[in-house]
Amino acid sequence: MPMADPHALWHAILAHLRQKLPAEEVESWLVPLQPLSLTSSELRLHAPSPIYTRYLEEQYLPLLEEAVVLAAGTPLHVVLTSANTRDTETLPSFSFNSRYTFPTFVEGPSNAFARAAALAVASNPGSGYNPLFIYAGSGLGKTHLLHAIGNHLRQTRPTLRLAYVPTERFVNDLIHSIRLQKMNEFRQTYRQVDVLLLDDCHILAGKERCQEEFFHTFNTLHEAQKQIVLTSDTPPHNMSGLEERLRTRFAWGLVADIQPPDLETRIAIIREKAHLEGYELPNDVISFIAARSRENIRELEGYLHRLFVFMTLTGRPPNLDTVRDALYPVLPTERSSTPQEIIRFVAHHYGVKVADLKGRDNRRSVAFPRQVAMYLLREVLNLSYPEIGRLFGKHHSTVLYSVEQVAAQRRKNPNLDATLTAFVEQFRT
Ligand code: ADP
Ligand code: MG
Repeated sequence: MPMADPHALWHAILAHLRQKLPAEEVESWLVPLQPLSLTSSELRLHAPSPIYTRYLEEQYLPLLEEAVVLAAGTPLHVVLTSANTRDTETLPSFSFNSRYTFPTFVEGPSNAFARAAALAVASNPGSGYNPLFIYAGSGLGKTHLLHAIGNHLRQTRPTLRLAYVPTERFVNDLIHSIRLQKMNEFRQTYRQVDVLLLDDCHILAGKERCQEEFFHTFNTLHEAQKQIVLTSDTPPHNMSGLEERLRTRFAWGLVADIQPPDLETRIAIIREKAHLEGYELPNDVISFIAARSRENIRELEGYLHRLFVFMTLTGRPPNLDTVRDALYPVLPTERSSTPQEIIRFVAHHYGVKVADLKGRDNRRSVAFPRQVAMYLLREVLNLSYPEIGRLFGKHHSTVLYSVEQVAAQRRKNPNLDATLTAFVEQFRT
């Protein structure tokens, strides 16, 4: 069946490849491909250059075609094309991903600091925080922020020489340059940029020759007040296998982290992603997906894209049944929750203590989370009112009243409804 838009399929393919290949390899070699067209027999992808195309065909084509079958449910011929008109400029930069911008980066408490730092650097490269060092676990927005800086600068200062470099590429370039005795070219390429965005620099760990070379690149750029932005999966002081002199330099400017997003932020991100793909999803579907992973946004996006492909292929509308059917083969198996886990989760979510939830304080800031906890114990675990009462030291009539209060508010307040749907999905076995 032909699909109009190859993007949804391409995202689903990338999600499969990410399960097979290290994240850095996918970022360096597969993410830069642009889906061009899709017919019932062929998926056409654009690669940044002919060399790139050849390398991909040698290294990745079988894996690609395998992922296509998994994502599309049918084999497709994968065609890689590239224009020969590559910039004569030898900058190690692919064009920036136009979807990774500041406006599409959803801000929340977990990422506000890193986002603000990135924006500051994009507004004033080289004159403030240098280097900017962003660290976070996988799938939390590091690469997105680097591209956002690149996209922003390309618009506001088109004459600057920008380089987005996955560290994997820096390493490969270096190895090739040594072998072909082209170190001068290598050095020129990397030391002549105005802004160097080096992604996943933790890969340098244990690679002494690369560290040595990067040390000099860093110094040259830093002395010339060129902006350097680095990302990593750990903060500088925890990077084992890294020379001390690099570790200290990485912490010279500003170190910012991104933490896993809270539920509201995950919901907002999924809504934004769906919107970018041209879908409006009902709240319960968004909440369902948002509850599926707490630690990794890429994983959530994978679920979302799987839903889109499923909807395209089956023609089914976006609702809870559809999303359950689309995702059940890929969702992690869940364990049943205990009352204590639910109470602890609610306490954490609302920023109150478990002891307060179980105590006598009746101010709304405590009483409302307590009512929500009671409601969830009833909804998710089907506990009786007296059972719930015992957990909180309250009479069962109080529990009944609380559960009804929450149910009534849930009907009136769509935000609360979305939050509760996500809670329930999260705990349900
Ligand atoms: P990392 O480089 O840290 O592994 P990415 O930057 O590749 O993670 O992010 C993974 C996916 O999650 C990307 O599609 C990115 O757009 C998305 N993402 C992460 N954080 C946000 C955010 N705050 N707002 C919108 N999308 C986000
Ligand atoms: Mg990344």
